[in-house]
Amino acid sequence: MFATKDISVTKVEHSKLQNLNLDHLPFGKYFTDHMLEADYENGEWKNVEIKPYQPLVISPSLAALHYGQSIFEGIKAYKNQKGEAYIFRPIDNYNRFNISAERMQMPPIPEDIFIEGMKQLVALDSNWIPSQPDHSLYIRPFMFSSDEVIGVRPSENYKFLIILSPTGPYFNAPIRIYVEENYVRAVPGGVGYAKAAGNYGAAMYATAQAKKKGYDQVLWTDAFEHKYVQEIGTMNVIFIIGNKAITPDLGAGTILAGVTRNSVLTLLQEMGYTIEERPLSIDEIIDAYKARELKEVMGTGTAATITLIKELRYKDFTMKFDTDKWQVAPMVKSWLTDIREGKREDKYGWMVKA
Ligand SMILES: *Cc1c(COP(=O)(O)O)cnc(C)c1O
Repeated sequence: MFATKDISVTKVEHSKLQNLNLDHLPFGKYFTDHMLEADYENGEWKNVEIKPYQPLVISPSLAALHYGQSIFEGIKAYKNQKGEAYIFRPIDNYNRFNISAERMQMPPIPEDIFIEGMKQLVALDSNWIPSQPDHSLYIRPFMFSSDEVIGVRPSENYKFLIILSPTGPYFNAPIRIYVEENYVRAVPGGVGYAKAAGNYGAAMYATAQAKKKGYDQVLWTDAFEHKYVQEIGTMNVIFIIGNKAITPDLGAGTILAGVTRNSVLTLLQEMGYTIEERPLSIDEIIDAYKARELKEVMGTGTAATITLIKELRYKDFTMKFDTDKWQVAPMVKSWLTDIREGKREDKYGWMVKA
């Protein structure tokens, strides 16, 4: 059995940090000094190392490249007022990672590697956590099949890695959304609930079409009727209608169970909103808009936290919002940010010390 004490650590001789301007950080472009790497061979995880960030050497026959057994997670670390590093809800991501692994016929990863390895890595590179508002350290754990055999079957070997990227605000401005009714992201029985790499490649064509029409992202709808809304890109979606917060339920397995979604629903409930997780049709959304009951629409996800949606286009009908007047989404966003930065009480125990 693998134990945390077995993680070997090799440190860089010279940190790259002084060469980086932490004031201008595009998302996911710069990586810290170290990474974690582990191998799955002969039915067990081994060779768990923290080492200098470096390229991987892979064979052209690497199974993941051909048949797509590849999954990932997205998590953030913050600095609190005392300058200590904390990670936001990593256990939830750990559990979801193993759910994705099972769906893709990949081996589960032990908590000692995923959580303890991540804590050690973040602690080692904690100088890289930017302290400006809305900035954080993005943590990207991922796993892929590493057999060097071209054959359609689950691999026998896998690699697990964690890399870290200091990051600024992702979509900081309110966005315009195109409600998709031709292309599909997920179907019941499919892999929509897994953070599987192929889901994102498969979504790019429809997103590019929407961008040509002037929109930032698509809001996916169900595959059968294109009637029930699902989610947006890498964000779940929450509608404030009257005094209710309504979001599509996870029952059909077509939506990624977002940790931010869950956190925002928890805070909205505390603010007095009635939470409804259920099928939500585009017709109901339009009716609420026409009746002036649809107050706010927000996207939730680790990368962007909360994104305000200023426009929703469905067929020839456009719903526009004056996001400057919104109060709910900005309030939840700053509340969540304050919890993450240690400025407000973390009563749900979301922050885990690195
Ligand atoms: C990652 C992701 C989300 C958001 O999940 P969080 O845990 O809040 O980051 C939503 N939808 C999709 C498709 C995603 O990949």
